[in-house]
Formats: sequence, C-alpha cells, structure tokens
Amino acid sequence: MGERVVIIGADATGMAAASQARRLKSAAELDIVVFERGHFTSYSACGIPYWVGGEVGGPDELIARTAAEHRARDIDLRLRTEVSEIDVAGQRVRARDLESGQDYWTEFDKLVIATGATPIRPALPGADAARMHGVQTLDDGQALIETLRATEGRQAVVVGAGYIGVEMAEALIHRGFQVTMVNRGAEPMSTLDPDMGVLIRKAMQGMGIQVIGNAEVTAFRTDVRGQVTAVVTAEAEYPADVVVLGLGVRPATDLARAAGLPLGAYGGLLTDLAMRVRGHENIWAGGDCVEVLDMVSGSLRHIPLGTHANKHGQIIGSGVGGDYATFPGVVGTAVSKVCDLEVARTGLRERDARAAGLQYVSVTVESTSRSGYYPGAAPMTVKMLAERRSGRLLGVQIVGREGAGKRIDIAAVALTARMTVEQMVALDLGYAPPFSPVWDPVQVAARKAVGAIRRQT
Ligand SMILES: Cc1cc2nc3c(=O)[nH]c(=O)nc-3n(C[C@H](O)[C@H](O)[C@H](O)COP(=O)(O)OP(=O)(O)OC[C@H]3O[C@@H](n4cnc5c(N)ncnc54)[C@H](O)[C@@H]3O)c2cc1C
Repeated sequence: MGERVVIIGADATGMAAASQARRLKSAAELDIVVFERGHFTSYSACGIPYWVGGEVGGPDELIARTAAEHRARDIDLRLRTEVSEIDVAGQRVRARDLESGQDYWTEFDKLVIATGATPIRPALPGADAARMHGVQTLDDGQALIETLRATEGRQAVVVGAGYIGVEMAEALIHRGFQVTMVNRGAEPMSTLDPDMGVLIRKAMQGMGIQVIGNAEVTAFRTDVRGQVTAVVTAEAEYPADVVVLGLGVRPATDLARAAGLPLGAYGGLLTDLAMRVRGHENIWAGGDCVEVLDMVSGSLRHIPLGTHANKHGQIIGSGVGGDYATFPGVVGTAVSKVCDLEVARTGLRERDARAAGLQYVSVTVESTSRSGYYPGAAPMTVKMLAERRSGRLLGVQIVGREGAGKRIDIAAVALTARMTVEQMVALDLGYAPPFSPVWDPVQVAARKAVGAIRRQT
C-alpha cells in the first residue's frame, strides 16, 4: 500500500494540493483523504458578492470542480466532516461526521493544513442575533440569500469597509436594499491610503450608500424574536433588517495552535519556502491560514487572498507528490471594484513604508484610461511611493473607471523585479489611443516620482 496524505479543508489550497498530488502520484502510490466541514468544494468565495447581487448564478456556477469530479480522480473527499484534533506525534487526525455525529481517527504519512480563515465576529451584545451574516463560504452566501428573500424590510447595514464589505454593499444595492456602511476607519478600504479611500467613499455615496466613518459599533439591537433591528454606535443607531459583517478575517489556526505547531505574530502558520510547516518535514500549510513573506518590506504578513491560496496549493501538491516547488512571497497586489469604479493596490502604503523604516516620496497623478480624445476615456488617479535616494518602487494605488484596475499588474511586476521608478519610465509598454494615453498613467506617476526624488537628494 502507498502513503496516505490527509488534507484539512477542501477549497482553493486543499483541492489544488490534492489535484496536483494526484497528477504526480497514482492512487496505488498515494492515498488522498480530504476532510471538509462544509457542503461544497473547490468553490469561489470571491464570487459570493456577485451571486448575492444577482450578476452571476450560484452556488453551482461558483464551483470550479465538483465533489464527484474529485472522487472520480480517486480523491477520497469527505464533505460535512470536521477535523477536531491533530495528533502530530501519533500522525493522525480526529474527524467528526457532522451528519451522523460519529468521531473517528485517520492516520497520515503526510498532512496538509488548508483550513483558510475565520471571519472576525465582534464580542458585542446581539452579535449572534438572527439576520446577521458573514460571507466566508458558499454556505454563508446561501444563508444570506435566504435571509434577503425572507426579509420584508429593505434596510441593510454593512459593518466594516474592507473590499468584501464594499463589494457586499454594492450587491445589496443591486438587490434593492437601502444600504448603510459603518466603518471604524475614516475612509473605506484601509488597504489604500485614506487620500485614495476618499475616492471610494464618494463613489459609494454617488450610488446612494450612506457611508459612516470613524464609527465604533457598540451593540446590535434585537427584537423579541432575536432578530437584529439596529446597529448601535457611540454616536447613533442605524435601523437594520439585515446586517452583513465584513470585519476581516484571522487565520483559522485553532487546530494548529492546539497541536503545538508554530504560529506567527498574526496567528498564521509559519512555513518554509516549500510551504512545509517550520520544523515538520511531513506537514504542509498554505492559503489563508499561513503568514507570507512581503517581498517589499521583508516582513511576514497575513494576506488572505485566493491568488496566493491557489499557488500555495499547487506548490504543496508538488511537494506531497515528491516534486519540488517554492513560493517566494508576495508584493501585496489586490484589485476590486465598486460599481464601475476599479480599485487596485500593490506594495506598501505610506504607513507600511514608515513602519518598515523606509524614507520615501509620494506622488499622485490624474490621467485617463485612453487618449483624452478617444471615446470612453475615463479619469484615473494613480498614487506612487518610491524610496528616497535609491528610487526603488515601493507601492502603487490606482482608482479609476474601466481599464484602471488591472494596470496594477505593471506595478506588481516592477515591484517583484525591484525596479526603480526611473526604470519604470523607460518600460516599453503598449500604446494606442483606445488603450491608453501615449504615456501610460503608471508611467506618468513614475515620471513624477523621479522628479520628486531628484529634488530631495
Ligand atoms: C466574499 C469574498 C470575496 C473574495 N474575493 C476575492 C478576490 O476577489 N480575490 C482574491 O484573490 N481573493 C478573494 N477572496 C479570498 C479568497 O476566497 C480566499 O483567499 C481563498 O478562498 C482562501 O483559500 P483557502 O483554501 O486558504 O481557504 P478557504 O477558501 O477558506 O477554505 C478553507 C476550507 O477549510 C474548511 N475547514 C476549515 N477548518 C476545517 C476543519 N477543522 N475541518 C474540516 N474543514 C475545515 C472550511 O470549511 C473551508 O471550506 C474573497 C473571499 C471572500 C469571502
């Protein structure tokens, strides 16, 4: 009999790892057992806001590969089965069949931890009321849609203004709700600097969303049926027939912590470059439950994104299957949208650069997505940070209409290659009036950054 790999979690990382390992090793060579507590596998949580908003169907449309397809490839996928304990020394996990309630141990030669992240729930009065929803899994999306269908009232409050909160606010508008967004920070999307976040707030207000900044939620009011009726802050109270929580996530590492595996400052598992848990030859971890190297600042961070999760799964599957692959780290690239406003970022914000002890120049330019005279040319704001003296690119943020968001990839490549802003000015980027002005907006920002650095040194 071959070796057995046990995988905990059957979404992006877990199933990418299982699929890659199966490509490399036959069923006779490697027994692959995957435990998943939910009803779904290989699903796109990223699509939930668009499912809720009615732009895409679901949940079937959000599933990249079904359980039946995985099982047809000799992957022993056990849905509705939760792992409750990892016995590292005994090389086994304890699982519970959530339908039958039966507990059992399964031994492993190799273990993959792909448990993802847990949404942050505030420890506040009323936080567990009915009609309060997170949106982490397809099961969560389904539950929210059922509430939205059953709710006669039309008042929705989104708590938290990260990209998921912003996307959910738009989805609720599409479903005909009056939406209030309550946020602790001054401006939405704290992954951008506040001077860029203000552009997002204005766009949301333009869609009729009430955006409340600098607001600390203190309680959720409920009625006699235990259903939420309002979100309470220190200053005001916002009526709510439904509440969506978008307060961010933390690595789902309770199991790993209890098993004594190494965790970092953000609570994520620590791995080597091959995604092996530090100090454990036969245990791998990846996706939202690990910390990753930020290649710009040199520090470890928790950046829960599907892009990394899928890559981690591929690398883990290669390792488990006896091949070799590594993950170098991230530069912090993310893109999202609210209505027709595209929002993108990569690298460091001003506060990150300061925290890393870096001195920098910061420039902001206004440009357009196409040549100004070409139909459809839309405004675009690009903010760029570069290191003082060396001119090394540190970060870029872009807010604009069609064609703005994916421009961030130019900056992501430049960051990865540790390019200077002067080198970026010289990049041979494509140009024709329907696609960009003759100087691409990212290069306009780079030119301005070069000037700022020359003035400073
Ligand atoms: C609404 C939303 C929108 C998003 N949009 C984007 C986007 O646009 N771009 C982007 O890059 N990323 C996006 N993401 C993030 C992306 O979905 C995640 O980074 C990615 O799914 C992480 O994959 P993962 O495999 O690490 O974890 P998950 O997808 O969270 O999967 C972990 C799985 O493990 C299971 N599990 C956990 N513990 C146990 C246990 N003890 N036993 C059994 N099973 C367990 C869970 O049920 C879950 O299915 C979005 C996320 C959400 C929620």
